[in-house]
Amino acid sequence: MSTVTKLELIYEGKAKKVYATSDPDCCIVSYKDDATALDGLKKGTIAGKGAINNRMSNLLMRMLEQNGVPTHLVEELSERDTLVKKVEIVPLEVIVRNCSAGHFAQRYGVPEGMVFDEPTLELCYKNDALHDPLLNDSHALALGLTTKQELETIRTLALRVNALLKDFWKQRGVDLIDFKLEFGRLPDGSIVLADEISPDTCRFWDSATHEKLDKDRFRRDMGGVEAAYQEMMTRLTKPNGGEQA
Ligand code: UDP
Repeated sequence: MSTVTKLELIYEGKAKKVYATSDPDCCIVSYKDDATALDGLKKGTIAGKGAINNRMSNLLMRMLEQNGVPTHLVEELSERDTLVKKVEIVPLEVIVRNCSAGHFAQRYGVPEGMVFDEPTLELCYKNDALHDPLLNDSHALALGLTTKQELETIRTLALRVNALLKDFWKQRGVDLIDFKLEFGRLPDGSIVLADEISPDTCRFWDSATHEKLDKDRFRRDMGGVEAAYQEMMTRLTKPNGGEQA
């Protein structure tokens, strides 16, 4: 068990707080129940979300680590708090899609649910004031957000994460539709997966019924938001509907 202590709040985001710690190389991330959507226009709370996202993200990151994906995760400290390596976040939202949904469907005028032969990868500039605009590799390089070598690593890691997560959730009766990743730089310059992987940042559809089990229920006022997050937590720990739990 870690002996690291929580110090001052250094950053408060929409869904998480980040604290300095007695270890200068680590931070504590504290997950909140607060939820925002539609570019910050919609605000609310999802009871129990912080604890679920903390647990789920840590279990998934641990699984990814075991499969060769470096992450910021150090140790889960409590229901909502996790010790992570301090990183410099690469200001890119890396979105991987297996199926049309959300902005992809809107932007290209296609229905949701078109299954792609190959996953797509898109980049957005992580900048709230500019509303996270879509950009391509050369834009990201021109803006000095990242380097060619980092981009190559990020692309390779994002696609590996997709393959691993897709398979993981398939075994739990869930289709991974799309998700957003963020990466960070360690002091030695190496790239690790950071931020979170949860129903806030992924689209999850039940494989049989296509029922939405993610934040779209909040974004679209569909009801059953808390129940969907709970359901995903239950599925996480019970592969094949619990037969092999
Ligand atoms: N996403 C996210 N944070 C963002 C934007 C998107 O976590 O700021 C996730 C979202 O949950 C979905 C995927 O990235 O799983 C693709 O989102 P999309 O571009 O379709 O935008 P959305 O419709 O979610 O705003």
